[in-house]
Amino acid sequence: MLNRLLLYLKDLCFPASCVSCGQIVESEGLCSECWKQIKWISDPKCKICGAPFEFESDLICGRCAKEKPRFDKAVAAFEYDDFSKNMIIRFKHGDSTRFCRQLATWTYRAGEEAIRNADLVVPVPIHFLKRLKRKYNQSELLAREIAKLAGVAYEPRILRKKKRTPQQEGLSRNARLKNVGGSFGVSEKYADLTRGRTIVLVDDVTTTGATANECAKVLKKNGAEKVILLTVARVDLK
Ligand SMILES: [Zn+2]
Ligand SMILES: [Zn+2]
Repeated sequence: MLNRLLLYLKDLCFPASCVSCGQIVESEGLCSECWKQIKWISDPKCKICGAPFEFESDLICGRCAKEKPRFDKAVAAFEYDDFSKNMIIRFKHGDSTRFCRQLATWTYRAGEEAIRNADLVVPVPIHFLKRLKRKYNQSELLAREIAKLAGVAYEPRILRKKKRTPQQEGLSRNARLKNVGGSFGVSEKYADLTRGRTIVLVDDVTTTGATANECAKVLKKNGAEKVILLTVARVDLK
């Protein structure tokens, strides 16, 4: 009885609102209008990078066929477009734990099957100076939440960003690969944790996959058996 009264009071004082437009909704998440605008990624898609296909196919995309990524599989919840960009920016700069929970839930649901037998959830790290400036790393917040939902150990200390790199935005794929090359490392102290493990790497958005590729390369060099990339959104490079 008291619980129900408290819930009622909570709803009265803090009604659930759409995480995108702020309109009052019945339960946490998006209002029906915003829901329609998200481009959820579903099958058919590339078996490796998750790029959506227009036709039914169990093949891999041209890009993966040309050069296989270092990660084994990538899953994203939805496409990165003007609509989802808005939501992600609000999460990045809004310090909002509510956003984080929602985005993590969608991402977890999209990757649930792919990460079923994973051992560790690891966020894509940022350089400590950047972290100092920003106060937090949004990939860490997402990864922690996803680890909780999946019941998999969360381990933010394995991967580290050794050197600061210029913004990737606006760079070509090759320039991005070069930009992040050698910028990640596995902390010696925690290197044992990677051996023979299936690792879920978490980031907010993936564009060319250059950052994830570099992280996967370093993890595998340290003995990781499998690396699965999980992101909230992916940029359609078509
Ligand atoms: Zn809305
Ligand atoms: Zn692909």
